[in-house]
Amino acid sequence: LNIHSTALYDTQDKRMGTLIIFRDITRIRLLETMHKDFAANVSHELKTPLTAIKGFIEIILEMMPDNGGTLSQDSVAQYGRFLGIIEKNVNRMVSLIDDLLALARLERLKGTDVQFEAHPLAGLIQKAVGFCADRAQARSVTVDVHCPEGVAAMVDPTLMEQAVFNLVDNAVKYSSDGTSVSIHAEQKGHDIEIQVKDTGPGIDQEHLPKIFNRFYRVDKGRSRDQGGTGLGLAIVKHIVQYHNGRIEVESRRGKGTCFTITIPGATEKHMVSG
Ligand code: ADP
Repeated sequence: LNIHSTALYDTQDKRMGTLIIFRDITRIRLLETMHKDFAANVSHELKTPLTAIKGFIEIILEMMPDNGGTLSQDSVAQYGRFLGIIEKNVNRMVSLIDDLLALARLERLKGTDVQFEAHPLAGLIQKAVGFCADRAQARSVTVDVHCPEGVAAMVDPTLMEQAVFNLVDNAVKYSSDGTSVSIHAEQKGHDIEIQVKDTGPGIDQEHLPKIFNRFYRVDKGRSRDQGGTGLGLAIVKHIVQYHNGRIEVESRRGKGTCFTITIPGATEKHMVSG
């Protein structure tokens, strides 16, 4: 609470009373803290891969003959290993920067009054699934899509594809090898529901409200190993809200997780008039 007081005097300089202004600055402070936390998180997230890159470059330089190092066959094999680690960390920074830029762009889009296109979802979902194909294949995870041809929604197709991709990619990423992921899209009244369901490890109830926060991860090590940035679900939430929709999650530990996106559907009128 911010308190400001001033004495009040009449024209004869006689004291009439005191004016006290109370200003509730809880929200301002909260926003300031959120900004500070975000900046701290960004710095930390960018610094982790940079520290690894720096460390391995230093080791390689020390191994160079000019610096008194000895170049043996063993060193060549080690170079290969270190370069692999450097590449992984550079890729991580590129993903992080891509995700941060995507979030910044989405935040700027907020509030603008856009006209979305009536867009069939089957192709859009298949495309998103296609981008996860390599990862799914590597883990022997099967991905099934159930979306009747006529199901269409009012969307920005590129953004909605990104949202579906992030959910499917997570489902594949966190599932055990050999399991399956299913995607169902269907009309529910005037709305469209897109569900992405896995039979992975599930998420404990205490974490569920926080997983849409930027950089929040249940298991940091696991997310990093899989190339996660901790921004995927924050991006999904922004995209869905931009579409006047909502996202819900249900999960049971050891049983699996189901994310449901609900967005306004496209009626026949939309399809005809575009
Ligand atoms: P990340 O890049 O770490 O995957 P996200 O924002 O996409 O970041 O997800 C946040 C966290 O939510 C993940 O780190 C993970 O702990 C959890 N999570 C997301 N999707 C799933 C899922 N399908 N199964 C289990 N945990 C999940």
